[in-house]
Formats: sequence, C-alpha cells, structure tokens
Amino acid sequence: MGAQLVDRFGRIATDLRISLTDRCNLRCSYCMPPEGLPWLPSPDVLTDDEVVRLTGVAIRLLGVREVRFTGGEPLIRRGLVDIVRRTSQLDPRPEISLTTNGIGLTRLAGPLREAGLDRINVSLDSLSTETFRELTRRDRWTDVVDGLAAAEGAGLTPVKVNAVLMRGVNETEAPDLLAWCLERGYELRFIEQMPLDAHHRWSRSVMVTADEILERLRERFDLTPADPRQRGSAPAESFLVDGGPARVGIIASVTRPFCGDCDRVRLTADGQVRNCLFAREESDLRGALRAGADDADLARRWRAAVATKQPGHGIDDPTFLQPTRPMSAIGG
Ligand code: SAM
Ligand code: SF4
Repeated sequence: MGAQLVDRFGRIATDLRISLTDRCNLRCSYCMPPEGLPWLPSPDVLTDDEVVRLTGVAIRLLGVREVRFTGGEPLIRRGLVDIVRRTSQLDPRPEISLTTNGIGLTRLAGPLREAGLDRINVSLDSLSTETFRELTRRDRWTDVVDGLAAAEGAGLTPVKVNAVLMRGVNETEAPDLLAWCLERGYELRFIEQMPLDAHHRWSRSVMVTADEILERLRERFDLTPADPRQRGSAPAESFLVDGGPARVGIIASVTRPFCGDCDRVRLTADGQVRNCLFAREESDLRGALRAGADDADLARRWRAAVATKQPGHGIDDPTFLQPTRPMSAIGG
C-alpha cells in the first residue's frame, strides 16, 4: 500500500463514499426541490468500469478500507449489483455498505447481499403514509417499508434506518419511530438536518437539534450513553435504549460536530473528489482518468485533494457558505 489520504491536521481518510447517480425517485424537501434538479448529463457520469477503477486505486494505493455507495438514489443505478460484486473482489476486500431510500430493495436486497454487500442504511422519516407523501412528494411509503423487510430477510443485518426530523412536519414522531424500529430489530439513527438543501431554505433557528430529539425520546425511553470509547470516528453518538442491548444513534453534525475525528472522503457521480460534505472545492479525477492517467497519478491527485481539507465545516461561522452542490449531487 502507498501513502494514505492524510490532511494537514493529521486526519486519515479511510471511508470512501461514492455517489453512483445524482438522480432520485423521491423529492425529500430537505434535499431536493419538487421539480428535481438539472441532472448530470450521462456522459459526465463515471461508467461502472471507471467507478471500479477509482475504487481500486483508493483501496490498493490509498489505504481506504470502507466503501459506501450512495447518491441520489443508488438503487436506480443499473450496474449497481455488478459494481458491488467487483468491489468485493478488490484486494484487500473493503467493507461495503449502501445508503438508500429503500425503493426497489424487494427485488435487489438478495442479489446485493449475494454480490457482497455487507451493510445497509435505509432512510425513513415517518410512519404516516400522509406525512411521508408530504415530505418526499411521492406516495412510496409501502415500498420503503417492504424494502426494509426485504433487507432484513436477505441478512443485511442489523438493518439501519436513517431519519431526518423537520419542524412542523415529523418532529413529534421521534419516539414512535424508535418504538417501530425496536419492534423490528432495526437500528435507528436520527440525522440533524444540514444546510444542504437545493433551495437553501435551511435555518439554524428552526432545525430540530440533537438535544430536542433526545428530550422527545426520553419522554418514553430511558437512554444511557453507550461507551464513547467505542465511537471512534463514527458520526453517530450512540445510546442504549432501556438498558440495552438495543441502541439509538444521533448524528448531530450541526450542534455537536465531529469534524476532528472525520475519516471520510467523497467521490461524486461525475468523478470529483470532495474532502468534505461542505467543501467549496472539488478535484477532478474523471478528467485525468479519461486523459489516460495511470493509477499512481490518480492516487497522487487524490492525496493532494485530501491534503487541503479544512479543519471543520464552519456552519456556525458567519462567513459560512452552503456548497453549490446539494446533498443529492454530493452523495450523502
Ligand atoms: N437516496 C438515498 C437516501 O435517501 O438514503 C441516499 C442519498 S441521501 C442524500 C443520504 C442521506 O442523507 C439520507 O439518509 C437523507 O435523509 C440524508 N439527507 C439528505 N439531505 C439532508 C440534509 N439536508 N440534512 C441531513 N441529512 C440529509
Ligand atoms: Fe432522494 Fe435520498 Fe435526497 Fe430523498 S434524501 S430526495 S431519497 S437522494
């Protein structure tokens, strides 16, 4: 293995998040506008071979150990199962996970598991079909819930569920969502809403904070912090529910940032390295790849891209500027 992906502050990126498409079949209001976005033109999107080639560089030459496929909605990427299979054949084999809205899992959970997928996170923000439809602007609640069951059935366990709470929409559902997940053996994690919506409507003063989520959960459950030494670079703060072993996680990117322990690096669907969700700059690997760069050259460019990572996202700084790409185009 060559040099690792180290930044000026000594953080080492070992967790690669790859967006396989910027397109999606939902329109979650914290993520996308109702009309969708100007999608990347197909020729700009990395081909399956290019994704696998760049992943191989990250694994073999840069010390990356975990690969998470995301989007947009990764299940609508035609070559997904094959990409997962080829990624699982890389040496050393990385841990492979997927973040998805769950639509299509009834068909794909088995083939993905068989291809080598290790773990899955499914996003579900509401137990009410009405609220789900309002929030995602699509009537697909049953597809998501069936998808979760299919993931469980395929052995992608423990199935993790991601939920974002929005004021006036679903913030009162926190304890119900937890009870529902506990009943089914799913591991629930709440994610604080971040300023990554395409409309730039996020506001610190109305967002639902980790403190508020914990307060709502504690009305029904006894929560005790799980051993923080086990957290490592994991973004979720973990709590034992009613003494454990069941847990609930809170990813408080805004109010309790974990930038100092960040071990992530991102590759967009069009082959740009982003050293942070909130980065203002990207480094183009696709151009170099298509111009014939060899693996060593790609690795050098990748290291240079990570070296300039900022110490933190600076959301609380008055000069904070939301990135131009919304979450769906970066890869959440
Ligand atoms: N479509 C897939 C999904 O929804 O799981 C993968 C991509 S999505 C961008 C990844 C995760 O980011 C989802 O759990 C979603 O809820 C979360 N997300 C999207 N926009 C967000 C925002 N503005 N703040 C916090 N989380 C957000
Ligand atoms: Fe699609 Fe995921 Fe964004 Fe929702 S959060 S619109 S499912 S990419």
